[in-house]
Order: sequence, then structure tokens, then C-alpha cells
Amino acid sequence: MNKMDLDKLYNETIWVAQKLFDRGKVSGSSANMSFKYEDKIYITASNTCFGNLTKEDFSIVDLNSNVLNEKKPSKEYPMHLSLYNKHSSVNCVIHTHSTFSTYWACKKTIKDKTLIPSPTPYLEMKVGNLVFVPYADPGSVKLFTNFDDAITDSTSYLLENHGPIVGDKSIFDAFYKLEELEEAAKNAWLVEHF
Ligand SMILES: [Zn+2]
Repeated sequence: MNKMDLDKLYNETIWVAQKLFDRGKVSGSSANMSFKYEDKIYITASNTCFGNLTKEDFSIVDLNSNVLNEKKPSKEYPMHLSLYNKHSSVNCVIHTHSTFSTYWACKKTIKDKTLIPSPTPYLEMKVGNLVFVPYADPGSVKLFTNFDDAITDSTSYLLENHGPIVGDKSIFDAFYKLEELEEAAKNAWLVEHF
């Protein structure tokens, strides 16, 4: 790939982040997102907002956790690295605290393999097997250990009392997956309550 490809990846990531922010799927500085380019990870830096990202808001990290520029990466970057290192097909990772996915992540009765009820077929079709990760404080070594212990062939995870994290082969595929997860979580919540 060349510089144009890198620019395209930056622009797509910024576009997706903006859309997620504008439509209330993320808020404040709570979400983080990354893409892989030539064995480097470009991840939103600590304390950045999806509503006004620029190329200067990305930290560059190699696959061994070495930070390669002056930007401090999101504190949750080890989970991104775990997904990239586990799945060579993953080229983008998105983590949010989206309302309805997080609602289900806070329910204590979901620690079985059906994390979110699926009244439509799309959760299984688009998100696949959603893997539960037991709670530990955000950014803690314990959370990253729990994530590594839970990691499977799946690229879709729900962090207990925290939120979803998904990976996929492209920025748009990861975006579609995160969106489908949040929509399915919303539908399941509405079906349960009305
Ligand atoms: Zn988080």
C-alpha cells in the first residue's frame, strides 16, 4: 500500500467515528477505534472525541505494544492488539459504550452463550457468536487478562458492565457489525419491554 491508502484509511475511520457520534452511538471520549496498516496499529489517542477526530488524534503502535509517535493511545488498546494478534484477518477494531449493547452487558442473567436475545436473524447473521468477557475495571491489567482468557475464533465481544468490542476485515465491515449489534440489542430490549 502507499500513502494514499493510509490517507483513505484515516478518512474512512474519521467518517465512521463522526457518524457514530452524530447518531448517539458514542458520547464524549468514551469510544476507541483502530485500523491496521503495514503491521502498525493506528488507534484513537487517549481522551479524543469521535465527534471531531483528525489524523493528529491517532497514536501509532506496533504489534508488540511499542508506541511509535508522541500520542498516548487509548488505555484500552491492549484489547485491540489482542484481536489483531489473534485474528490475522482483522484490520479494524471498534469499542464503544453504546446504550443498548451496554444495557445487556449489565444484565446479570446473560452469562450463557445467548448473551442477547435475538428476535430477528440479524444478530447471528451479522455479528456471529458474541463472547462474554467478565468484568474488571476499564483499562486494568485484569480486564486485558480476562479478555485474553475469553478470546476465541469470534471477533465479537461484550465486556460485562462495560460495552461491546468488535473486529472485522475492513473499517466498514467493523462499523456494520457494531451497528448491527447495537440495533439487535435495541430490538431485543424493546421486544422484552413492550
Ligand atoms: Zn470502554
